[in-house]
Amino acid sequence: MAEEKRDYYEVLGLQKGASEDDIKKAFRKQARLYHPDLHPDDKDAEAKFKEVNEAYEVLSDPAKKQKYDQFGFAGVDPNYGGGAGGGFGGFGGFSGFGGFGGVDDILNSFFGGGASRSSNPNAPRRGEDLESSITLDFMEACKGCQKEIKITRMERCPDCNGTGAAAGSSKKTCPDCHGSGRVRITQNTPFGAFAQTSACSKCGGTGTVIENPCPTCSGRGRIRKTITKTLNIPAGVYDGAQLQIRGEGSHGLNGGQSGDLFLGVRVKPDPIFERRNTYDIWTELPITYAQAALGDKVSVPTIDGKVSFEIPEGTQAGTEFRLRGKGVKRGNRDERGDHYFQVVIEVPKGLNKNQKELLQKFEDSLTDKNYKKRSGFFDKIKEKFKQ
Ligand SMILES: [Zn+2]
Ligand SMILES: [Zn+2]
Repeated sequence: MAEEKRDYYEVLGLQKGASEDDIKKAFRKQARLYHPDLHPDDKDAEAKFKEVNEAYEVLSDPAKKQKYDQFGFAGVDPNYGGGAGGGFGGFGGFSGFGGFGGVDDILNSFFGGGASRSSNPNAPRRGEDLESSITLDFMEACKGCQKEIKITRMERCPDCNGTGAAAGSSKKTCPDCHGSGRVRITQNTPFGAFAQTSACSKCGGTGTVIENPCPTCSGRGRIRKTITKTLNIPAGVYDGAQLQIRGEGSHGLNGGQSGDLFLGVRVKPDPIFERRNTYDIWTELPITYAQAALGDKVSVPTIDGKVSFEIPEGTQAGTEFRLRGKGVKRGNRDERGDHYFQVVIEVPKGLNKNQKELLQKFEDSLTDKNYKKRSGFFDKIKEKFKQ
């Protein structure tokens, strides 16, 4: 028996019913705690980090979350518990089944809707559009990447090349309608004979019948197939974006073009970086009291790696600096957003007696001239309360 899996909410330190925002925040917190960069060669932290990632992947995806809430692990992992949820095995890589009922509903939603029905059954029909989603790491979204995804779609039958006729056989003129696709029905009623034409049921209005249907596709010309596709995800995609990938939906009928694949993009938060205004990056930079007062050369983490920066003397807590063009690529444009970092001053804790005395001595040597903001503030208060 494998080790008990921990509940995803428990992994992120959340209660069931946590909001999207809570989940994002909890993930950031946990990922920061166990990030491998912070715990090199720590197998335990690595395992925890994986667990946190897995929990986030499910809980951040509304469809997967719903399945998990309803069925537990069996709802999101077809291999879990053997059997339960196994019907979804063929759809690995998809997410977007939330709210659907049985497998038939799923098939209908994927292969039924979308294509407009032409009145002429022989006219080319465009293939159905598909929807899927992918989850990217923060860096993958910033820099672009290649991603393998599984797509289940209708494809032209390779055995009959989409004709629906078995090898060696061909289509022939429908004997019922003689190729017109319409039949005339005369009904005798007490009010007289009524003639009506309707689509021929034998040939479905096409005017031809297949003598010997292709056994692979049962004469339909298309078969359902799950394929693996490597997609080029462009740099700069953001959480919530939808990519339209032309021609990767279901194949068309009667020579019609293929549908498109609509790919919803989800981006995992990063423990250090944040995306702001879509293409800017924002980070905090902890510095010491002395660095802020004296100025210092610091190294700022950016998505390209570390950049060295001269913090000026007398930098105040919360000051925001900008590194131009160090953000994320702006879609197709040949330019990038900016990198912002905000200085956070870490006040030293746990000082020993000697250190405290030194700091006190230093503090005593300062005058109002060194603390302009503070003295100005107390001047204002004095002003306010004089009377
Ligand atoms: Zn076939
Ligand atoms: Zn017919």
